[in-house]
Amino acid sequence: MAKQFFQALMTTALALGAPAAPVWAAKSLAGFATAQSTPASVPAGITRTDLQRHDLSIVGHETVQARIDIAPGAVAPWHRHPGEEVIYVVEGTLEYQLEGQAPVTVKTGEVLFVPAGVAHMARNRTTANGAELATYIVEKGKPLLVPANDIAP
Ligand SMILES: [Zn+2]
Repeated sequence: MAKQFFQALMTTALALGAPAAPVWAAKSLAGFATAQSTPASVPAGITRTDLQRHDLSIVGHETVQARIDIAPGAVAPWHRHPGEEVIYVVEGTLEYQLEGQAPVTVKTGEVLFVPAGVAHMARNRTTANGAELATYIVEKGKPLLVPANDIAP
């Protein structure tokens, strides 16, 4: 019984971390004791804390919510998600850029919407920590984050 329970947890944690993909390190998942190693591809200064994950009433989709801390000077490189990302900046000031658009500055308490599949990046140009609450509405069974190597840095 206990063994099955832990196997279920492991499966969930692994699916969320998508080990084959360079998903940024999951620091923790609320209520989960599973430790995860930090993939070598995690950008320096980026800390991802997974908060919750649930199936949705939209068939084949789930929501994932995470806090992403971006240290002073750190860059979250160009990437895409298999669905929408709804961003609320909870700390500091972050600069975002969406594919084909000029960079925008988003301060604490402000929001940004990233449409499904649109490449985007974020950076912290300030000397203070920046953090966003990211809510994803994504297709199940796909990596949460895919690098957008086709976009010039
Ligand atoms: Zn993103």
